[in-house]
Amino acid sequence: MSRFLDPRLEKLEPYVPGEQPRNIRRLVKLNTNENPYPPSPGVRQVLADLDPADLRLYPHPDAGELRQAAAGVWGIEPEQVLAGNGSDEILALCFQAFGSGGFSFADISYGFYQVWADFYGAEYRIIPLKDDFTLDIADYLDQKGTLLLASPNAPTGLGLGNKQLRQLLAADRNRLVIVDEAYADFAAENALPLLAEYDNLLIVRTLSKGYSLAGVRIGFALGSPELIADLQKLKYSFNPYNVNRLSAAVAAAALQDQDYFRECRDKVVAERQRVTADLRKLGFCIADSEANFIFAGAHPRLPAADWFKSLRDYGVITRYFSKERIANYLRISIGTYEDNQILLKATEETLAKA
Ligand code: PMP
Repeated sequence: MSRFLDPRLEKLEPYVPGEQPRNIRRLVKLNTNENPYPPSPGVRQVLADLDPADLRLYPHPDAGELRQAAAGVWGIEPEQVLAGNGSDEILALCFQAFGSGGFSFADISYGFYQVWADFYGAEYRIIPLKDDFTLDIADYLDQKGTLLLASPNAPTGLGLGNKQLRQLLAADRNRLVIVDEAYADFAAENALPLLAEYDNLLIVRTLSKGYSLAGVRIGFALGSPELIADLQKLKYSFNPYNVNRLSAAVAAAALQDQDYFRECRDKVVAERQRVTADLRKLGFCIADSEANFIFAGAHPRLPAADWFKSLRDYGVITRYFSKERIANYLRISIGTYEDNQILLKATEETLAKA
């Protein structure tokens, strides 16, 4: 730490992203919930057609074409969409914009929420999930300030149904509910149909998972034109060119190829079902995931920390959180059929030795 750092930031504990190994060709990378399939072929075309001379120019600060593409896909108006540099940036803007009454979020959820709250000096209440990692909405009904829920949740994969979400939204229309839908592309239900009814709902989406574009960093806020205008105001006070030219063009192409999106999503969901069933047969406890990962563990003979290390020796990287309550589980991204076979075989061999 230099002597120049603001003392307010001295104790800040940054978010620790999952490992990004340099040579992934020899590894089965199931640790950061990337999509195992490449992005739409339209993305390659955009890159091939790109004139490098255009990179002299700043991007359009309103990311108009990209917002229009997103609005078209999700059945809303472009004024209801803000594009950002990954949904991480969108969430960071939300912490700055909507924190005056504090935030409520679950103890087991995206670890970054607490980091942002600390960073921006927002007050927050951490609400424990139930023993089975489901969320009891009764715990949230009377909370003041902004509610922040990930659905499907990370790292559990459990989704919150619209029936419950509706109850939270209706309980107090002057309270904002932010639903982080980073994984909703893989879920049976999402909150989009509620946008027309509730102007206290803000949905956060990403192209990192469902659209195989984690590397280009595009996320969205979807909500009432007023909520989006608030976030725009912050964006223009912070980084007007937050979406670069390359990413905007690539992202619009991926969104426009809905057939390809569905094809990849269906493959991931089918593999999620298969891997879940096979690991359950081997004795692991796994919640019914609605995401592109599973949360597996609590094995009678194999502690998750040992499973994690053994898989690493087989070249399979997963995500282990040493945090209380979840230290006996691994979060495992769903890979291709071949990736998942390597995971299953390595797990069987590990169990045979355990
Ligand atoms: N929300 C959740 C719940 C996540 O797991 C992630 C991925 N780490 C994000 C948001 C951020 O995703 P991105 O910035 O790639 O859009």
